[in-house]
Amino acid sequence: MDGQGPFLPDYESVFGQAVARVRAEGRYRVFADLERKAGAFPRAHNHGPGPDEVTVWCSNDYLGQGQNPVVIEALKRSAERMGAGSGGTRNISGTHHLHVLLENELAALHGKEAALLFTSGYVSNSATLSTVGKLLPGCVILSDSLNHASMIDGIRQSGCEKRIFQHNDIADLERNLAEIPIDRPKMIAFESLYSMDGDTAPIAEFCDLADRYGAMTYLDEVHAVGLYGKGGGGVSERDGVAHRLTVIEGTLGKAFGCMGGYIAGSRDLVDAVRCHAPGFIFTTSLAPAIVGAALESVRYLRAHDELRQQHQARAARLKALLTEAGLPLMPSETHIVPVLVGCPVKAKAITDKLLTEHGIYVQPINYPTVPKGTERLRLTPTPLHDDVMMDHLVAALTQVFAEVEADAPARAAG
Ligand SMILES: *Cc1c(COP(=O)(O)O)cnc(C)c1O
Repeated sequence: MDGQGPFLPDYESVFGQAVARVRAEGRYRVFADLERKAGAFPRAHNHGPGPDEVTVWCSNDYLGQGQNPVVIEALKRSAERMGAGSGGTRNISGTHHLHVLLENELAALHGKEAALLFTSGYVSNSATLSTVGKLLPGCVILSDSLNHASMIDGIRQSGCEKRIFQHNDIADLERNLAEIPIDRPKMIAFESLYSMDGDTAPIAEFCDLADRYGAMTYLDEVHAVGLYGKGGGGVSERDGVAHRLTVIEGTLGKAFGCMGGYIAGSRDLVDAVRCHAPGFIFTTSLAPAIVGAALESVRYLRAHDELRQQHQARAARLKALLTEAGLPLMPSETHIVPVLVGCPVKAKAITDKLLTEHGIYVQPINYPTVPKGTERLRLTPTPLHDDVMMDHLVAALTQVFAEVEADAPARAAG
């Protein structure tokens, strides 16, 4: 080994090939270079190809809270009073009174004793699942087959035995539980609302099984907090089962329109995570301005159930229009409106045309976010998408689906 010539690793070509593989499958991701316009949501300024201004149809800011004047005002006020960053980890100088207030508010939102903030929903899932799993020797984690990457990451890091049960399948979960010795710790990890299909979990039935087999329950309510239940506590509040769950996890980045994540649970469990989770301990806490904005947003949504009703009404109208137009709407019980394409190349062609020719921004959803062959558009109407925008979207989709269909055989032949 003289360290010369052909024996030296060619790092760049490894990265180049990794990208080329993604490109070859037609699922290379291009980020739309947009600039949201506060006060004009869901309109955005477009810095990329296409018209200068576009309508956003795929935001997870489900209620437009990111531009709610009271939220922006709280952000400005907090920054002016406390500055930009938090100044440290929660342990070392990074706990501000606003963090305490927001944790109290989130605990109350879910009817739990305590809550704990993280820098994102992703971190809250990976840090909590890994830490709780490590604290329970011999624990088995039962994981829904469609769980989010952040939960899978936490479960892997926990080192626990993992069993994957069929998505939302009560019988398959029970079959798995019955195979585990009754004295072993168990945790059932699942989501309340799956954001790609828009279906919801049988939470009460899963809690019944948890009671019968002595399991803990861990529920990701990321796509439901702020949106379901009388106070926006999520599907678990809507179904009257929040008190039965061991841990409820949520984000401040979607319906609450800010950023950050959290868990809510018993005082002892939350305190144990606070003391043991590296993903909580060793990172600068959320900026006070963000926390002030999120606190305002949570309080606002707890008090404004009518926004949730408008949201559901908007989603129902869009679904009806798509069905009427004969577009391939996938079944969804919730505010998520998925439209099936079934091919990554077509999905990209459709969304490119929508953006550049119609000023409509929808991101194609490809593998690995969804299984191959189920590539789709995922529309997220908000109370701020009016009838004119909706009619325009459906007309554009009808036209573009027809154009891409007509193009496909020609492209295959050529
Ligand atoms: C987006 C998402 C997360 C992560 O939340 P962030 O706050 O965006 O990090 C966790 N779980 C699910 C199901 C999600 O879709």
